[in-house]
Amino acid sequence: MKTQNFINGRWVDARSGKTFENRNPARKDDLVGKYPDSSEEDVAEAVAAAEKAYASWRLVPAPRRGELLYRVGEILKGRKEDLAKVMTREMGKVLKETRGDVQEGIDTAYYAGGEGRRLFGQTVQAELPNKAAYSMRQPVGVAGLITPWNFPMAIPTWKMFPALICGNTVVLKPASDTPASATLLMEAMEEAGFPAGVVNLVHGSGRVVGGAIVGDTRVKVISFTGSTEVGKQIAQQCGATLKRLSLELGGKNAQLVMEDADLDLALEGALWGAFGTTGQRCTATSRLILHESIAKDFTERLVERARKLRLGDGLDESVEVGPVLNAGRIAAISEYIEIGKKEGARLALGGAAATGGALAQGSFFQPTVFDGVKPGMRIAQEEIFGPVISVITCKSYEEGIDILNGTVYGLSSSIYTRDVNRAQRAIRDIEAGITYVNGPTIGAEVHLPFGGVKETGNGHREAGTTVLDVYTEWKSVYVDYSGRLQKAQIDV
Ligand code: NAD
Repeated sequence: MKTQNFINGRWVDARSGKTFENRNPARKDDLVGKYPDSSEEDVAEAVAAAEKAYASWRLVPAPRRGELLYRVGEILKGRKEDLAKVMTREMGKVLKETRGDVQEGIDTAYYAGGEGRRLFGQTVQAELPNKAAYSMRQPVGVAGLITPWNFPMAIPTWKMFPALICGNTVVLKPASDTPASATLLMEAMEEAGFPAGVVNLVHGSGRVVGGAIVGDTRVKVISFTGSTEVGKQIAQQCGATLKRLSLELGGKNAQLVMEDADLDLALEGALWGAFGTTGQRCTATSRLILHESIAKDFTERLVERARKLRLGDGLDESVEVGPVLNAGRIAAISEYIEIGKKEGARLALGGAAATGGALAQGSFFQPTVFDGVKPGMRIAQEEIFGPVISVITCKSYEEGIDILNGTVYGLSSSIYTRDVNRAQRAIRDIEAGITYVNGPTIGAEVHLPFGGVKETGNGHREAGTTVLDVYTEWKSVYVDYSGRLQKAQIDV
């Protein structure tokens, strides 16, 4: 398994020779590998390679670019199982979820590859005679892609494949917690036959490597997925030069369960939404808003089911909940447990690191349920990013929606109800980029826009065809074939 940067079609160490360690969160003594602790110099080299490659890559017909993406899709498909195992080993989520993560990359390869034969503009009627008018997409240039660790295959591919199909070249900086997944992805890109410099990978810290990518004037567009805090810093940096920027940030997603809902279904949804990926999803269900008439019973059932979830090494197929990322995350989640208790919420389940038996070798946290949570409490407002769910009650649909909308975030949302009118109102009234009806807050598909409102982002969307707007500039074209000077708005 390679453990280097990939710059200009070659595998290279950091110029400084420095490295950092990548460890398995389920077994801290398991060293996955040592990766380059790169500096500004390495970034400059990667950006130079991407800039040079852009001159010819932008001229490759998009359907040909698409064929390379199909090839990557095939390679990822053939290696799905091997990739999933490495991903689980380096970031902890259970195998069936890392398989899903790879599948998202495969789906994106085919979807973006197909876009090579579309990339539609509009042909419209000109207002003057003997004149043609149409709009077309053009690539932006070098794209800097900065990604988090929780979807180490899906998120880099969501960014890289659309960027490439549009004719951009890329420099990818993956999270330093998941360098192996990004390296395996780059190996697949190399094997598929992308020309040297079209795709580049630079490992290292967010501040140094990420900062250098954002600050490089040759990088024309930044796509960042990560915390709202870092996203805001990057937005300030990009604002100084008006650099194009797409931000996909945090969430505080809620599932609203009305009294008329299929409660068994809603319970399955809450369990999967809150504790899938150990709660470490931007779309995780971290608030459960229950109609007061069903709240007591539903919470008891939730606690009983969550108590039985099987924690352990995600490589073990029988495990349901893997570790959290590292000891730092245990400390951060524990701090929120204390905050919740001080605020007066009732700890109905969990609330501490899980350390029994083999769990002591890794960073595990007990599935946690807070009950009696008030909408304004910090545990109901701030992203905890762990296996913690806050249960809030409401007296009516209207109050439920107010609570659901009452945070600075707006990524995903869910309502369980059998009343079709109520479901339609919720779809209209919820302030979020994604709304599920009778499904949990997680489960996005790659051919629909993905992203959120308010402090979850800056108005862009990944996936679907909407992502093409991040990686292309619109050009309007007028072809006057009248053979004379015609003046729009004046020759009327
Ligand atoms: P993070 O913000 O700490 O890091 C994200 C990436 O940014 C990493 O590659 C990191 O190295 C880099 N980085 C850190 N500081 C930087 C800086 N100053 N300049 C440039 N780059 C920098 O986030 P994380 O802990 O990796 O991921 C968890 C967060 O990501 C959560 O808030 C989660 O909600 C969010 N997330 C959002 C989405 C979405 O699509 N909305 C998807 C997944 C995760």
